[in-house]
Amino acid sequence: MKRKSKLIGIATFLLFAFAAVYMFGQFDGRAGHETLLVKEAVAAETKPLISPVKARGRDFYTPNSEDLGPDEMRLIACGTGMPTARPKQAASCWLLELGNGDKFIFDIGTGSNERIAAMQIPYNYLDKVFLSHLHTDHFGDLDALFVSGALAGRQKPLRVWGPSGETPERGTKYALDHLRKALTWDLDGRQGLTDPRGYHLEVTEFDYKGMNQIVYQENGVTIRSWPAIHALDGPVSFSVEWNGLKFVFGGDTYPNKWYDKYARDADLAIHECFVAVPDLITKFKFTPQTALAVGTQIHTAPEAFGKVMSLIKPRMAVAYHFFKDFDTTASINDRIRTTYDGPLSLAVDYMVWNITKDDIRVRMAKVDEDVWPPPATEKPQLPDPKIRIPYSDMIKGGKYDMKDVIQPTYDEINKKYGIKEKQG
Ligand SMILES: [Zn+2]
Ligand SMILES: [Zn+2]
Repeated sequence: MKRKSKLIGIATFLLFAFAAVYMFGQFDGRAGHETLLVKEAVAAETKPLISPVKARGRDFYTPNSEDLGPDEMRLIACGTGMPTARPKQAASCWLLELGNGDKFIFDIGTGSNERIAAMQIPYNYLDKVFLSHLHTDHFGDLDALFVSGALAGRQKPLRVWGPSGETPERGTKYALDHLRKALTWDLDGRQGLTDPRGYHLEVTEFDYKGMNQIVYQENGVTIRSWPAIHALDGPVSFSVEWNGLKFVFGGDTYPNKWYDKYARDADLAIHECFVAVPDLITKFKFTPQTALAVGTQIHTAPEAFGKVMSLIKPRMAVAYHFFKDFDTTASINDRIRTTYDGPLSLAVDYMVWNITKDDIRVRMAKVDEDVWPPPATEKPQLPDPKIRIPYSDMIKGGKYDMKDVIQPTYDEINKKYGIKEKQG
């Protein structure tokens, strides 16, 4: 009896000892980890590791689906291609969003306005545009953003910053004064119809020769410019400094010493990188002479892009200004890699970079092609219908009488929204 209870005592002790070792193992780094791995492996035999009903994390960005962190920059390529905009690539346009709520558009090239629309951002937040130079592939959709933005909820002027030129006629102010004049019929025809506050341009022209000069400083954000070398005097490059992060947008330029100096320490640096010369001849149909001049002297050749990035060593180098196809990308990449082996993004429209001090995440955005305007951030201001510019009697006289078929729509809307509108 005594012997039996002694055996039970030893067995109980061993049981507790094993339990203690097991428990300790749970908290001891390696032993616990191995135990857990064994447990997971056993569990995996009975339960799938991936749920058949729960969503997994995405590898792409969908607009209006993610908060922006307070210390985060989000950059979205809204145009990366050539002056001949195409469905896959609009011309130069970059949307930079900061964690403090500020948003900036760098260049608004041909075709890019629809990419901006795809981001589903209320237009009141899209009121600041910085132009690197006045080629249409860098500002050709400014008219579209100006007018459609005002129509779709920008209740304030569109602010535009851009460089001067060697003569006043080659400067941003001249270009936009005349763009405004070219829109006379468009803007006159909208008077008295919609919220009038967005149909104004506020232009700030700064000296294209300024060296790392501050062209914007608000809300903790500093934007600087320095000269670029491209086509004529006038083009510039920009940097944005905010919250310990630095973003650089080079615009169009031949490699130059100022970019080398002022783009250093960039977290993300964009520099143009043109289509390789052989492809400019065979695919873009340039003559060999033009291809050499444009592809290496007016713009930056891929090998030269690589050399620039090897000098400034950004956390992420971004190349743009080429058609990124299955048969052009390899040659651009190979040529860049002869002179640069650091982090690299070969940009295409809808590429997205999330930039923090610890990480730069690169993804593609998947957009809704059926997108409608986002809601306005403030209550719309009703226009004064008295300032409508009337048709002439001759044109007015051509109207059919449609009052009887339209009246039910007035009745329906008046009843639904408690208003008392009358047909004109
Ligand atoms: Zn250009
Ligand atoms: Zn360009």
